[in-house]
Amino acid sequence: SVVSVKHALSGALPAGTPVSVRGWVRTRRDSKAGLSFINLSDGSCFDPIQVVAPDTLVNYADEVLRLSAGCSLIASGELVASQGKGQGFELQAKSIEVVGWVEDPETYPIQPKPHSLEFLREVAHLRPRTNLFGAITRVRHTLASAIHRYFDQNGYCWVNTPIITTSDAEGAGQMFRVSTLDLMNLPRTDKGAIDMRKDFFGKDAFLTVSGQLNVEGYCLALSKVYTFGPTFRAENSNTARHLAEFWMIEPEIAFADLDENARVAEDLLKFVFKTVLVERPDDMAFFAERVEKTAVSRLEGFINAPFERIDYTDAVEILKKSGKKFEFPVEWGVDLQTEHERYLVEEHVGRPVVVTNYPEKIKAFYMRLNDDRRTVAAMDVLAPGIGEIIGGAQREERLDVLDARMQQFGLDPAHYNWYRDFRRYGTVPHAGFGLGFERLVVYVCGLANIRDAIPYPRVPGHAEF
Ligand code: ATP
Ligand code: MG
Ligand code: MG
Ligand code: MG
Repeated sequence: SVVSVKHALSGALPAGTPVSVRGWVRTRRDSKAGLSFINLSDGSCFDPIQVVAPDTLVNYADEVLRLSAGCSLIASGELVASQGKGQGFELQAKSIEVVGWVEDPETYPIQPKPHSLEFLREVAHLRPRTNLFGAITRVRHTLASAIHRYFDQNGYCWVNTPIITTSDAEGAGQMFRVSTLDLMNLPRTDKGAIDMRKDFFGKDAFLTVSGQLNVEGYCLALSKVYTFGPTFRAENSNTARHLAEFWMIEPEIAFADLDENARVAEDLLKFVFKTVLVERPDDMAFFAERVEKTAVSRLEGFINAPFERIDYTDAVEILKKSGKKFEFPVEWGVDLQTEHERYLVEEHVGRPVVVTNYPEKIKAFYMRLNDDRRTVAAMDVLAPGIGEIIGGAQREERLDVLDARMQQFGLDPAHYNWYRDFRRYGTVPHAGFGLGFERLVVYVCGLANIRDAIPYPRVPGHAEF
């Protein structure tokens, strides 16, 4: 029967079991004794399976000896205990059926040698064939699955918020405009079509920068909800932690304050870190060996220590007293830059930090104004190597304060009447946060650049494949 490489290597099948495995050649080595050793991967686990092909196979000389990296094949035979160390089983092939050849092995981009990450970004459509991107992809999947499991087990509903919207959640001006293709060829007699041509939604429409405002509405009826979907921001700079298209997880909790919000963030992160260490040990060990020495140990440290909480005002003092020359001088009232965030986590505390209570002027209008009237109940969770991975807040549930804050930010409350309704009809304190999914992947895998944390990165100048 056909089995995955993972199943074949797992030890669940006794030696002698007849099986077929299907996948792609990583390497081929020929011995003088008339045997070829083919490492075959199907992506189901980190390790490839070794297929031993004897020269008695009918297509040995014609085909097996021509196999190169990237060729696809089906190998059938018997599982046998492997002589080599590390691998429990190999496949003693009785037949090898080549499914797809590699046209030009010399110029095939993914050779069995280490490639630079920069090079692999240029062939993003082929990089899943490498060990590194196989591992990142499996870990990314497990993280997503663990996030859904966490919320499911804790009574949250997954809510899908719209991708296309006519409101700018943050007023930050980072939105991509959505326009219809030229519909000039639609029949003129179709009145609806003619209107659509100019103005499909009746207003300028954009790709969403956050599902938060929408998900608040569901929170104020279902109590515990979250979004997990794609998010778009026209980031105007090339950084190692910004993408134009990224995925965000946004829980929203009714009757919660900032304290509870931070507790949920901590609980969620610890749950997903534990899950990935248990379910992807091979991939995590590979990151620790080849990408970032501390990939595993820092997750273990994170799981075992409580979050460090620092008030923004104290953080500014710490940064001022650090004696560090920052590119961007720190001052009460300015937002923390990556260099500041990384100093706090990497040099001051040595593990993830939650910074709370930011100046109201630098945070969004919907964050709850504190009694000091200078700060809002906001929190950012900062992680080593990347800085902010979560931004969150208790929301302003008082309509009069919300209206005043909108006006202060130059927003017209009339444009947000649907959002104001949440405060007009049965308002309650509530809180939530946004976790950047690719930043989580960067942190867990120990990557240096967020472009390696998503299958097909969208950044300025790049959206081809
Ligand atoms: P930053 O300060 O790094 O630009 P932000 O404060 O603008 O982030 P938020 O609006 O708080 O981001 O969004 C919530 C989370 O979404 C962030 O904590 C981060 O993890 C993630 N995020 C924000 N912008 C991006 C982006 N362009 N690419 C990838 N992830 C992002
Ligand atoms: Mg930003
Ligand atoms: Mg920020
Ligand atoms: Mg933020």
